[in-house]
Amino acid sequence: MARTPLSDDELIARFGPHLNQAPPGGWDAGFEVDKVVETHCCFCGQQCGIKLKVHDNEVVGFEPWYDFPFNEGKLCPKGVKRYLQGSHPDRLLRPMERDTSAPGGFREVSWDQALDRVVSEIRRIRAEHGDDAFAMLSGVSLTNEKSYLIGKFARLALHTANLDYNGRYCMVSAGAGNKKAFGVDRAPNPWSDIPLADVVWVAGSNVAETFPITTSYIWRARDRGARLIVQDPGWSRWPERRTCTCRCGPAATRPCSAPSCTS
Ligand code: SF4
Repeated sequence: MARTPLSDDELIARFGPHLNQAPPGGWDAGFEVDKVVETHCCFCGQQCGIKLKVHDNEVVGFEPWYDFPFNEGKLCPKGVKRYLQGSHPDRLLRPMERDTSAPGGFREVSWDQALDRVVSEIRRIRAEHGDDAFAMLSGVSLTNEKSYLIGKFARLALHTANLDYNGRYCMVSAGAGNKKAFGVDRAPNPWSDIPLADVVWVAGSNVAETFPITTSYIWRARDRGARLIVQDPGWSRWPERRTCTCRCGPAATRPCSAPSCTS
């Protein structure tokens, strides 16, 4: 089993996590903004639109993108801090190789050296343990092109049949439910339908923490008088403005305590 070359405290002191709460140069840097780039927040599958301010090829701030149809300028706390990640001091910008004689236990190597080592190790592991010794886990927030490349890499470079992505745990069950209910394996309606609904039924999702901007769509429905039913296998605080909460398992036998519930 691999051992870390330093104690946990030493590793954290050298590589983080550290707080990074200000843009490069600080809040009062007074930069002239060279350009504003329209892009997406990359932190969750909602992909909110955001405008990043750039100075000298570095992200130094952001502006709301009011015309973006999904989030209409809104961002959750993760999206608000997202632009600070580019200049975060903990970012690993160059390849490092374990070397117990080097200060901190790692030494910097060139990209060519790093990639050569990766290739030789992949070949060694495949020769010793077979193609399926590797598994590849992709991500739901990647673009189509990146997902395509990861599939190609798994099949053609690694020769592995073990390829999956984090959507297996959430979107596959949602896709199967949508297919059975509506005949398509994805949400069949636009988000703009949510505020128009008379009943919003949320099954097994902590919307406020996992899809924060969607919460505002649900509140708009509530403000119109829609009933909100939350079927929650755990417990999260966001549905406190619910009409009714249905708990799964033994708790389902308990009566709902919401004052407006008539069930
Ligand atoms: S909901 Fe938050 S984390 Fe997700 S894309 Fe929007 S700003 Fe980013």
